[in-house]
Amino acid sequence: MSKIVVVGANHAGTATINTILDNYEGNEVVAFDANSNISFLGCGMALWIGNQISGPSGLFYQTKEQFEAKGATIHMETPVDRIDYDAKVVYATGKDGTAYAEPYDKLVLATGSLPILPRFEGGDLENIQQVKLFQDAQEVVDKLANPDIKTVAVVGAGYIGVELAEAFQRNGRKTLLVDMAPTCMANNFDPEFCDLMAQNLADNGIECHFGEGVDHFEGKDGKVTKLFTNKGSYDVDMVCVCIGFRPNTTLAEGGDFELFGNGAFLVDRHQKTSRDDVYAVGDCATIFYNGLDGGPGYIALASNAVRSGIVAGHNICGTALETPGVQGSSGICIFDLKMVSTGLTEAAAKRAGREVLSTSFTDCQKAPFIEHDNPDATIKIVYDKATRAIVGAQIASTYDMHGNINMFSLAVEKKVTIDELKLLDIFFLPHFNAPYNYITMAALSAE
Ligand SMILES: Cc1cc2nc3c(=O)[nH]c(=O)nc-3n(C[C@H](O)[C@H](O)[C@H](O)COP(=O)(O)OP(=O)(O)OC[C@H]3O[C@@H](n4cnc5c(N)ncnc54)[C@H](O)[C@@H]3O)c2cc1C
Repeated sequence: MSKIVVVGANHAGTATINTILDNYEGNEVVAFDANSNISFLGCGMALWIGNQISGPSGLFYQTKEQFEAKGATIHMETPVDRIDYDAKVVYATGKDGTAYAEPYDKLVLATGSLPILPRFEGGDLENIQQVKLFQDAQEVVDKLANPDIKTVAVVGAGYIGVELAEAFQRNGRKTLLVDMAPTCMANNFDPEFCDLMAQNLADNGIECHFGEGVDHFEGKDGKVTKLFTNKGSYDVDMVCVCIGFRPNTTLAEGGDFELFGNGAFLVDRHQKTSRDDVYAVGDCATIFYNGLDGGPGYIALASNAVRSGIVAGHNICGTALETPGVQGSSGICIFDLKMVSTGLTEAAAKRAGREVLSTSFTDCQKAPFIEHDNPDATIKIVYDKATRAIVGAQIASTYDMHGNINMFSLAVEKKVTIDELKLLDIFFLPHFNAPYNYITMAALSAE
């Protein structure tokens, strides 16, 4: 029997705790979380703000009571202040001032990530919002009840910023999307896909200011009223800053941990940190990224957090389980335009100095004789020039073709070559796809 202490009970912590409780008997599990809620699906934030769902109640999938029914002890609103890694004791303080000194045999750090908030002049004005927690979303929703909030600027055009821009526009606000990069979502897609999304945003009324860096904010009566970039200034009533996340690893202090370049806990394929008996999962830890070379990387996604929690839970309880790594698979759906990607984009490959080739194809999704609900889909497959192994893929369409990208995720993980894809048994039924489907056609037309 082990005493297992988990710090952080959101997606990664929840997956770890459930894996332990559901599969192994006789362990004592104690968890601490600084927040008052568990398992908030941040991905639903934009849908809530944009009134595409009726409220936030469905955005949680786990409760403290469910954990406790399975035998765990859960301390909510109880931040861990410090950890004595040599003595193996976790120190925390409850909301009511109760002090905890919890010894452990195994420790899981699942402390997640924090929004990156640069110190802009005027950055502390009211109505400059961050977006991470349920409470952040609630605050934005409450403020939007005020009709004086007419114009909202979203700073950062990564996938979260783009989703929020759609949400504010759907909520009836004039919406600006500002990013210093020349386009949106440049980390996940190649320029031709980013341009498709940028056009989609503009077509739906969002004012895109790409290639503009935020300089400072000005306000009146303590509230933000103006956003200044290096190219101009804009009247605003609210600003959402979402320019990325950094791993929350303040508890690393005193642990002499090996850390990644951005400060994330460097973990092995069992999710173990450089210290014995200390595991790290989710956004506070590195992942093995198969897109590049399988080495450590940082990709903050709930999907990765859950998988890392499962891996840690089994290893802690004595079942050796190695993570196969991830491809950073992701997707987005904005005003009906769906874009999915996995692995390396051509641009990212080139930035990393890797020699790649690519092949693209556009065709209608279903057999050409299907007259309705048969939009075009565009695919791009990126593959290594020397080995011809597929290293990434991107697909865009207003049709829901998202499942296809998971096949490419496996192809990248298993190093399938572009030539093997040419004769892959892809089924054909006119309701779903075409006899000469765009995946096969892209592969056949590869150099
Ligand atoms: C708006 C938005 C949309 C997103 N959309 C998607 C999506 O569509 N798909 C996807 O895969 N991912 C998405 N993500 C990313 C995803 O939410 C994160 O990757 C995920 O939350 C990481 O889970 P985690 O448990 O590792 O960390 P976190 O969710 O950051 O949770 C960390 C937990 O640790 C607790 N904690 C921290 N420090 C302490 C301490 N000292 N003591 C006690 N407790 C502590 C915190 O209170 C928190 O509960 C989105 C994120 C946001 C913000």
